[in-house]
Amino acid sequence: MLDRPKLVVANRKMHGNLPDNRQFMQSLLQQTQQHSARYAICPPHPYLYQAQQLLQNSHIAWGGQNMSRFEHGAYTGSVSPLMLKEFGCTYVIIGHSERRQRGHENDETCGERFEAALKAGLTPILCIGETLEEYERGETDLVVVRQLNPVIAHVGIQALSQGVIAYEPVWAIGTGKAATPQHAQAILSFIRGHIGLLNEQVSEKIGLLYGGSVNPGNAAQLLGMPDVDGGLIGGASLVTEDFIRICQIA
Ligand code: PGA
Repeated sequence: MLDRPKLVVANRKMHGNLPDNRQFMQSLLQQTQQHSARYAICPPHPYLYQAQQLLQNSHIAWGGQNMSRFEHGAYTGSVSPLMLKEFGCTYVIIGHSERRQRGHENDETCGERFEAALKAGLTPILCIGETLEEYERGETDLVVVRQLNPVIAHVGIQALSQGVIAYEPVWAIGTGKAATPQHAQAILSFIRGHIGLLNEQVSEKIGLLYGGSVNPGNAAQLLGMPDVDGGLIGGASLVTEDFIRICQIA
């Protein structure tokens, strides 16, 4: 089995402002230097320039929370992969459930965005995960395969390994009810197995994250699971000490 490095990503959603971001990023820079995991911050788009100014040449990466699948054009309100790249982004979140729920993204457009991100030299973080109803019907496996397969069909299995997959059960996002470490492990192991049916090497190499109410209290157990290669952190990334603690645990 490959030794996959842990990755902790802050999804700051529509939060923050210049002074708050500065405090967050500077504290993180200072207090994570001794740790071996990889870290990234995804602020709202207007703050990517600030992230670039504060984090360039550091051990912390940054990324967008979304992007257009087109490079340029008449798409009012959208941000292109090339623009994210120009502001130094390493990562871009794709298919977050908050965007899927509002109809901005679906399995097909996620495939297109994943491909566009790779083409621009970005690492896509593809979010997948079931709703509460799907979970209660025992359909988690079906849902993650349904969300993953169109992306694999679109980009091919080799290209998939250049991205990261975040399993985020919708019922655990922002609810304070994280999945149990056993559930996160079972589903990420299932996802890795599914990928392994197509390509064993890709399945061993690809980074798989868990997201959904990760906090300093549950991070050690969740991130300690063998198939959990890191976390996508929403609410806890808004409290600087909490996010730093999670980074240190990873
Ligand atoms: P949460 O959000 O940590 O607040 O549950 C995670 C996410 O939405 O990526």
